[in-house]
Amino acid sequence: MSVDAHKETLHFQTEVTQLLHLVVHSLYSNKEIFLRELISNSSDAADKLRFEALSNSALYESDPALKIWISFDAEAKTITVKDNGIGMSREEVIENLGTIAKSGTKEFLSRLTGDQKKDAHLIGQFGVGFYSAFVVADKVTVNTRRAGLASEFGVCWESAGTGDYTICNVEKKDRGTEVVLHIKEGELDFLNAWRLRSIITKYSDHINLPILMPKLADSDAKAAKPAAFEWEQVNRATALWTLPKNEITDEQYKEFYKQFSHDFEDPLAWAYNRVEGGNLDYISLLYLPSHAPHDLWNREKQHGLKLYVQRVFIMDQVQQFVPMYLRFLRGIVDTNALPLNVSREILQDHPAVTKLRGALIKRTLDLLDTLAKDEPEKYALFWTQFGNVLKEGPGEDFINRERIAKLLRFSSTHNDSDLQNVSFETYVSRMKPNQKKIYYIVADTYNAARSSPHLEIFHKNNIEVLLFHDRIDEWFVAHFPEFDGKLLQSVMKGDLSLDEITGDEDKEALQKEDEKTKQTLEPLLKHLKEVLGDQVKDIRLSHRLTSSPACLVREQNDMGPQLERLLKSVGQEVAEVKPILEINPQHKLIEKLNSERVQNGDFGEWTKLLYEQAVLAEGGQLKDPAAFVQRMNKLWLDLM
Ligand code: ADP
Repeated sequence: MSVDAHKETLHFQTEVTQLLHLVVHSLYSNKEIFLRELISNSSDAADKLRFEALSNSALYESDPALKIWISFDAEAKTITVKDNGIGMSREEVIENLGTIAKSGTKEFLSRLTGDQKKDAHLIGQFGVGFYSAFVVADKVTVNTRRAGLASEFGVCWESAGTGDYTICNVEKKDRGTEVVLHIKEGELDFLNAWRLRSIITKYSDHINLPILMPKLADSDAKAAKPAAFEWEQVNRATALWTLPKNEITDEQYKEFYKQFSHDFEDPLAWAYNRVEGGNLDYISLLYLPSHAPHDLWNREKQHGLKLYVQRVFIMDQVQQFVPMYLRFLRGIVDTNALPLNVSREILQDHPAVTKLRGALIKRTLDLLDTLAKDEPEKYALFWTQFGNVLKEGPGEDFINRERIAKLLRFSSTHNDSDLQNVSFETYVSRMKPNQKKIYYIVADTYNAARSSPHLEIFHKNNIEVLLFHDRIDEWFVAHFPEFDGKLLQSVMKGDLSLDEITGDEDKEALQKEDEKTKQTLEPLLKHLKEVLGDQVKDIRLSHRLTSSPACLVREQNDMGPQLERLLKSVGQEVAEVKPILEINPQHKLIEKLNSERVQNGDFGEWTKLLYEQAVLAEGGQLKDPAAFVQRMNKLWLDLM
């Protein structure tokens, strides 16, 4: 039968060209991983076929033994990676090899700096995949046919990895995919049986299906054609997680991770667990990556574990096992507790899924606990990459909230830098004898938090305050009101009194003094209120200031300014929360203001300035910045 070739030349999507360029320039010191990536694609293709064949065994076309064949031809200067997996249709080839479907690719590519060293590091966040073929090849030919389609539906794809590729229809008898690499002049050392074998055993020994190469004698015989080869298996082809734990080396754990995750870097840590004989049989191999993927904050993005049932791959990215706050987790779970024909719908409400999910969350939290305890430097790395994701935990997972909270780390007034390394437990261990609350401040940046006037009284009394300055923090405290029976208290909210803690002074005398100041300043407070009107809810004397003249505070249950700004920035309607202006009666400026009032000078202008600087000090935005500048300049000029 003759096939209408229907040959077309098509352009790569722009992102593909950019990514190709990046891949080729990033992998110069690690070229051999192209083979791992292609083998991994073949293995995925075999997994997909196995899964689809569960409900349609005709897809096997009487050839159910799934394999990968790797050969080379020294004369033609080619390496061929062939599989009898699911294969691709013409549309699938165009979609899979001509475009990048991953969400967030544009943003990722826009972050490239043009500096090859820095960009090379970024590729690790993306995964390299099929395009790594162009690291060693100046032309790649793919012949493929989707399982279940007739032999005239074969497709040939070819590209030199520059701007475009050709695609045409071909006759292809056996299903699956064959990738032919036309090796570049400088990379001809790869055309060597020993070299290829050693790469395969290094990276792909535990791929779940046999990888075959021609017997050594055959591959040396230059004239031999693949059809005449006698093939032999070169990998162990047992899934790594099925080996006894004491037989698995660290190197193997790492290679396995890179192979299934397409990550370029080693994982930070992992946990292997095998639970047998109970009512919930499973093996899990869970990994913490060493860096955040580029789309960690895209909540629509798929995440989750690879699911196997009785060693058979079922599906990728099963979210049911992994809550959002652990979405950085990678790994596999292999269980006997689910049926082989399980679908995403069945997974939704299968009782074993709930149990497995609970067990896997526990395994992950155990892994994090151990890392935090035994390898704090590694935990610090984990925290910089994924800490903000973990902070979603207490709001999302009620059962484990205390455990998760123990894993959180914050900046603190007791640290010299913005390092986030203080846990709630450490904080509690350093609390003053009479201190009952955990104090924190929320601001947009570390510096804004660190130098906030609200901290003055805490500095004076050497009471530790946690500095929350990540976007998620205010949301986090809203969902986590107390730790270990101790309330979390914002230093910016409520009518703060530290008497209980500092308590060494004579309370009564203090109160008396307070009353006296209040009486003397009563007219001032009244007058300030007249000027500021409904910009503020109230004006009162402060107990939190020592060196600043004024600050803004909120009522205990009001939304904090950071959350208010965050919600507004994403376009949410937020009812305006009016702040309370607190003034420091001991401050010289307040004294001056009071005499200005008596002398009837520029009192109104100075009052507005006092309010405006309090807004600025908490990182807020002035409603009318130009008026503020004019006011300041006018008052300034009067003084000069
Ligand atoms: P990734 O594997 O990360 O999705 P790749 O660029 O390596 O990205 O591959 C793109 C897509 O091409 C794959 O997701 C798969 O759908 C398809 N593909 C690649 N290799 C094969 C293969 N050997 N058999 C079938 N499909 C393949």
